[in-house]
Amino acid sequence: MSIATQDANGTTLRQRYESVQARIAAAARRAGRRPEDVMLVVVSKSGSLDQVRELMQLGQVDFAENRVQQLLQRAAQVDEWRARRAELGGTAPAVRWHMIGSLQRNKVKKTVEVTRLVHSVDSLRLAEEIQAVAARRESPVEVLVEVNVSGEASKHGVAAGAVRHLVAQVDTMVNVRPRGLMCMAPLEGGLDAARSTFERCRELYEDIRQSGAGGERFDVLSMGMSGDFEVAVECGSNMVRVGGAVIGPPQVAEAPEDA
Ligand SMILES: *Cc1c(COP(=O)(O)O)cnc(C)c1O
Repeated sequence: MSIATQDANGTTLRQRYESVQARIAAAARRAGRRPEDVMLVVVSKSGSLDQVRELMQLGQVDFAENRVQQLLQRAAQVDEWRARRAELGGTAPAVRWHMIGSLQRNKVKKTVEVTRLVHSVDSLRLAEEIQAVAARRESPVEVLVEVNVSGEASKHGVAAGAVRHLVAQVDTMVNVRPRGLMCMAPLEGGLDAARSTFERCRELYEDIRQSGAGGERFDVLSMGMSGDFEVAVECGSNMVRVGGAVIGPPQVAEAPEDA
């Protein structure tokens, strides 16, 4: 294990991880919230498998990937590692996988087999496919609806005006459970644009909660990445998806788009 290995920029994985945790906690306190009410999901897409294992040993449970192929591969490798540790009488730390990238319908079946939460439901057709696949499972598949708050053409997600209706439709599906909303800040405009995007998404989220359209367990607001997670927490995010600020310089090349 390379817990103490420094990168070129002189910090260790552990230092970056603890620093991100401390910054989340400080942002939560600034906003009058409890640090433990904000979940950190580490985006491992540019990290190595060794880094994932190291973070698991530091107590990190939730990890995200944005490509199905790498998600499935990582989930299998981590399972194997956990099984080996258990065989050797060690404790095998827990892990939960999140899918945060755009999901094609022909990849749904394999994805839901390993995923705790799909953050990127952006159409009724995708939700229906999840419902079809999930019908054979014991527990419903939990999903977030991805919102394209800024309306940028380059972004995935449902237009703000259509979100509540899609959430209500998903809530009628027996085997899919809407748990909340996910959004990303626009590429341009810096932290000011991020803040107005996050505030708007928070309004949509509160509106759906008050209307009851999302059902009883609609309680996740997934916003904030390495460059803007503190602003997101100040705007009410309770789940941040942080990659680079924890991982450091990329350890693996970006996986190709799912074919
Ligand atoms: C890559 C990614 C992240 C993490 O981005 P960083 O800037 O590395 O923190 C978060 N959310 C989504 C949807 C991503 O694709």
